[in-house]
Amino acid sequence: MSNMQNKTDVILIGAGVMSATLGSLLKEVQPDWEIKVFEKLASAGEESSNEWNNAGTGHAALCELNYTSLKADGTMDISKAVKVNEQFQLSRQYWSYLVKQNLISNPQDFIMPIPHISFVEGKENVTFLKKRMEALSANPLFKGMEYSEDPKKLKEWMPLMMEGRTSKEPIAATKIDSGTDVNFGALTRMLFDHLEKNNVEVHYEHSVENLKRASDGSWELKIRNAKTGQVEYHHAKFVFIGGGGGSLPLLQKTGIPESKNIGGFPVSGLFLVCNNPEVVEKHHAKVYGKAKVGAPPMSVPHLDTRYINNKKTLLFGPFAGFSPKFLKTGSNLDLIGSVKPYNVMTMLSAGFKEMALTKYLIQQVLLSNENRIDELREFIPNAKSEDWEIVVAGQRVQVIKDTEAGGKGTLQFGTEVVSASDGSIAALLGASPGASTAVHVMLEVFEKCFPEQMFEWKEKIQEMIPSYGISLVENPALFDELFASTEETLFLSEGKGQKALSFH
Ligand SMILES: Cc1cc2nc3c(=O)[nH]c(=O)nc-3n(C[C@H](O)[C@H](O)[C@H](O)COP(=O)(O)OP(=O)(O)OC[C@H]3O[C@@H](n4cnc5c(N)ncnc54)[C@H](O)[C@@H]3O)c2cc1C
Repeated sequence: MSNMQNKTDVILIGAGVMSATLGSLLKEVQPDWEIKVFEKLASAGEESSNEWNNAGTGHAALCELNYTSLKADGTMDISKAVKVNEQFQLSRQYWSYLVKQNLISNPQDFIMPIPHISFVEGKENVTFLKKRMEALSANPLFKGMEYSEDPKKLKEWMPLMMEGRTSKEPIAATKIDSGTDVNFGALTRMLFDHLEKNNVEVHYEHSVENLKRASDGSWELKIRNAKTGQVEYHHAKFVFIGGGGGSLPLLQKTGIPESKNIGGFPVSGLFLVCNNPEVVEKHHAKVYGKAKVGAPPMSVPHLDTRYINNKKTLLFGPFAGFSPKFLKTGSNLDLIGSVKPYNVMTMLSAGFKEMALTKYLIQQVLLSNENRIDELREFIPNAKSEDWEIVVAGQRVQVIKDTEAGGKGTLQFGTEVVSASDGSIAALLGASPGASTAVHVMLEVFEKCFPEQMFEWKEKIQEMIPSYGISLVENPALFDELFASTEETLFLSEGKGQKALSFH
């Protein structure tokens, strides 16, 4: 039974960083719209956006080697790196705007400066890194990147990783100091606090079970209140499915043509976390290595200094794994339940195509803790197993779809906004580069779903995010200006963020 009194302008499903970003952007451009949020868990940012469920890297392609690749002619393709970096600048600018307007405060509680390092071993990888350095150092977005093969220099940059290193293989690294560690959980909670103070109704422990189009073109949502067990019906003119891994099943329920021929493949993650403060103190960087053969790009091993709950910590991973759940708090039936007559061929084709990934995941699942410590020793030769324990990270549901370039059942590693042709509903699928590019992705939702309003909103968007619609790589002076001002507002200049922290 529908209760038409539960009618609103916008419903956001899920209280992760994506809904938080979309809700806060909408509040700025259209403050009079009524927004409701329904989240199945008891608080905001508990799934992938939680600080322990992701790696907290402000992805700007400063150290992630998978964003650059060698072309057939032997030159380095940096187009993806440039794109990701430009997208991260949009997030920096928007977060700075929120801080300047006092809509959120204490930026050091969610973003901290930390050098980003790429580290490789072996002749071929060293050549790759050198070429990457040459290509990036000529680009204004990557100013300040340094390269070294000198063990003495590398020891200065990453003493913990050089201690006890006996291998005769050539090694090299690049370092750039303008990297960041982002606590996306803290950011999500800050944004939800701001939304609740601005009349956004956030209903926790409310799970969206079904969506269907009403006769007036709006969407009717069937929602179960987990506390009372009761079912409620809510209508909205616009719905954003920001359910993280839970988005695909909800998108399928809409029945929109755009939801067909899409599948999802969950990849789970584990991190090793260091519990020895002396070891933690010896490392100060996010160090990304090169992916192993067959490994998906998001499983590149990295050793990360993190700032979580005002405490410096050290994480290594992620180790990939397989679980049929689409959310950490999901069900073992998620994967099988997402296979429908209209996407079964897409799913099966992906299964045949992705043998290397399957093999890699099986190997990862079979790893013992001692095997994981052995992998850690490729980064920290003297690592002791008693200093490290396992934490279970979030689930990433990779999109599988039919593409012109890849054919039937192609596994996608990016994020994907899927929307109805009339713009009344949009869902976000995929998880990489993820939370770092939330602002860019939510602006894509604006462009796809609110083309008419965009004429009116554009001025406000450019006030908040000055490089929106402008290429920074082609406007290096603007990049310098915005980089300096966001660095100032977000306390990102060397030492400032640390000083602002209340601990130590
Ligand atoms: C191991 C790992 C490492 C990562 N590392 C990084 C990184 O270093 N940098 C980076 O930028 N990104 C990283 N990411 C990606 C990033 O975490 C995600 O892109 C981002 O958190 C997704 O946010 P979201 O709001 O879409 O989803 P989530 O944070 O998962 O939020 C979705 C919310 O929807 C709720 N929900 C689901 N279904 C329903 C329903 N039916 N009804 C009501 N509520 C529902 C869930 O409970 C959840 O709270 C990583 C992810 C993983 C898993």
